[in-house]
Amino acid sequence: MNSDSAKPKILVIDDSRTSVQIMKLVLESEYELAIAGSGEEGLSLLVSFEPDLVLLDIIMPDMDGYEVCRRIKAYSATRNIPVIFMTALDGSVDEEKGLLLGAIDYITKPFRESIFRVRIRNHIDLKKYRDEIARLSVQDGLTGISNRRRFDEYLEHEWLRAARNKGPISLVLSDIDFFKNFNDNYGHTSGDDCLCAVARALSSSTKRPADLVARYGGEEFACVLPETEGEGAVGIANRMRELVAGLGISHAHSDVAPHVTVSLGVATLTPDRGARASDLINLADECLYKAKRDGRNQIHNAGFF
Ligand code: GH3
Ligand code: MG
Ligand code: MG
Repeated sequence: MNSDSAKPKILVIDDSRTSVQIMKLVLESEYELAIAGSGEEGLSLLVSFEPDLVLLDIIMPDMDGYEVCRRIKAYSATRNIPVIFMTALDGSVDEEKGLLLGAIDYITKPFRESIFRVRIRNHIDLKKYRDEIARLSVQDGLTGISNRRRFDEYLEHEWLRAARNKGPISLVLSDIDFFKNFNDNYGHTSGDDCLCAVARALSSSTKRPADLVARYGGEEFACVLPETEGEGAVGIANRMRELVAGLGISHAHSDVAPHVTVSLGVATLTPDRGARASDLINLADECLYKAKRDGRNQIHNAGFF
């Protein structure tokens, strides 16, 4: 869903001008509308317009509504967009067919305007809740960056892609140095503020849209760098180290610096037959351990590619 201030977006796919006029009249003030006069046109608008709801006529020349719905539900990018069939057909067989294809509702024409308006509003509200839940399920509650669940999914996905492309993938694990001392001396609230600032600094270290920074555990962060060689990954890890140190968050109880620092482990692999994403994590973890052992506030890297 768009931000709160923006109107929810509805795509109407209907070849009847009269129907479209009525729907426009009822919905225009509350929603941003896009109108498509055919299934083909509707499908192409779907991607550019990114609607929150699709109102779909069944009987249309060329491609009928059932086929349009089937295609919407066949692609992961559009699958979650709710579809409501709007049709003059009034038979339980057709209704069942529409619902079995994944539509969330079925409204017969002609409809009572007031009821139509409320039903649309209810479906839009449900879409808002679903979007919110989907967002929360992949977001870390404290820092707002991706959470561990999102990291696990994303790494697996990118690992498989790297295997197909026979290309490298890198992972940076970072851990705040002497963070227990920080909490013990400055308090948990300051500790939380520090975690948020570090998360922001780490996120701003990456440049490509495919790079993902996530909270891995308490004061540990992970960064997936698809299609990135070891050299590039070390470059990013260096920037991370510098940006976190550059925050200048006082830490009088660190043995390594007067401010908050991180240690980083960098691993790069080109997935081989039998290798798993967890191999990359283990390798980065070993490097992180060495960075800690050798004095903290530094980077260790390893890998084969
Ligand atoms: P090292 O330099 O070896 O990493 O030592 P450390 O003290 O950073 O590591 P340790 O694992 O001993 O302690 C991690 C601390 O992170 C423990 C806990 O107080 C803190 N921590 C973990 N999650 C949170 C959180 O959500 N909020 C706050 N404020 N602190 C957290
Ligand atoms: Mg730790
Ligand atoms: Mg630590």
